[in-house]
Amino acid sequence: MSVTAVVGMQWGDEAKGKFVDYLGSSARIIARYNGGDNAGHTVINPLGTFKLRLMPSGIFNPGATCVIGPGVVINLATILDEIRLVQQAGVELETRLWLSPRCHVVMPYHPMVESIYETAKGQSRTGTTGRGMGPVYADKVSYNGIRLFDLADETVLAEKLRVQLAIKNPLFKAFGLPPLELQPVLQEKLAQYAQIAAYVRDPFGRIQEALTGDEDILLEGAQGSLLDNDWGTYPFSTASTTLAGGASAGLGIAPHTIQRVVGVAKAYTSRVGAGPMPSELFDEDGETLRREGQEYGTVTGRPRRCGWFDADLLRFTAQINGATELALTKLDVLDSLATIKIGAGYRMEGDETGSLRHYREGDALWLGDARPEYLEMPGWQQPTRGLRDFNALPAAARAYISRIEELVGVSISMVATGPDREDVIRR
Ligand code: GDP
Repeated sequence: MSVTAVVGMQWGDEAKGKFVDYLGSSARIIARYNGGDNAGHTVINPLGTFKLRLMPSGIFNPGATCVIGPGVVINLATILDEIRLVQQAGVELETRLWLSPRCHVVMPYHPMVESIYETAKGQSRTGTTGRGMGPVYADKVSYNGIRLFDLADETVLAEKLRVQLAIKNPLFKAFGLPPLELQPVLQEKLAQYAQIAAYVRDPFGRIQEALTGDEDILLEGAQGSLLDNDWGTYPFSTASTTLAGGASAGLGIAPHTIQRVVGVAKAYTSRVGAGPMPSELFDEDGETLRREGQEYGTVTGRPRRCGWFDADLLRFTAQINGATELALTKLDVLDSLATIKIGAGYRMEGDETGSLRHYREGDALWLGDARPEYLEMPGWQQPTRGLRDFNALPAAARAYISRIEELVGVSISMVATGPDREDVIRR
């Protein structure tokens, strides 16, 4: 038995989906443990190109049971769409998709509450994906959530919805939004549940069986470590625990069983939405990264903010996840640059001497004032796209990879050089 967690080391969009698909070939269980349909993973394989929000990216491995654990919140319309999409590609799901009945369900009022929060914040809005994640997790921790368990029983669901609408409708009224009626919401959720009921089955026993047997398990993190609700750039963060440790609670597997943590990091940095990003570029180089990296949100289509690789952030996220190795992605995006920079720590305004400062020292406001101290390296200015042999990389690209390893303190075991499943250098 081996348990591997694949975790995003930056602000999401690190190309985790590709590595879950890639590393999942030997796994018998592939499981999501956090987040909801605010995630967006791109998987490109011989069956086609798939943009998945909720479905585990490992679904294309026919030998794997795919699990959505209790730490995930489910939007029923999204999972239904993805079930159809994947089935149309000829993938068998009846025996393979397991949705924990403990999962909380996104209700129509959650995105509405979120829009109230965002509107009220005005300029300081969080810049969420608008999928209701904050409110659904808030309902979960305040004992107001509705789980798949509840959807199996009309009487239970009707009563829970009645209470929630009694709480939420006065808020909608106060903020000029139309109140929700019980019956349409109830009927919609019952109808959607009827279509996924066959997949709602507790994965706990199946996971325990794999843990005691000789089966590989792959844990699929959504979003990135810097969006973690506790350790990310709060409040410009997500509502769930995105770290490898979150897999333990989010799936019900003991922490010591997770022996391998693959931290996935882009060879540069990107971020969607608001919040501090010290190495963000506003110049031609930033434009090059966005253009070459196709940096537009999978879920929202928004252009992503792009910047240099920030080794201080990576050192922190590698430590907090216990990353045993790194997968560096999108190296090819840097191919045309003459000079490449790496952030090695920060200086604060007016403090140009003394030792460098670090992410762990402050909050989002503090990080907003931090300026990276950069190391400069020569670019390689030749194509690396699709290379699959480390020694075939230009010397400057190899030097860049080694420098990152030194600064982060974790070795880079895999390098991605293109979007295809096989565009990976294994070292
Ligand atoms: P995820 O949410 O972490 O899975 O990341 P996304 O799916 O949002 O973004 C990854 C994008 O980069 C997808 O469009 C991938 O096909 C693409 N991609 C993955 N690896 C590479 C790579 O090494 N080079 C390039 N150029 N594109 C890549």
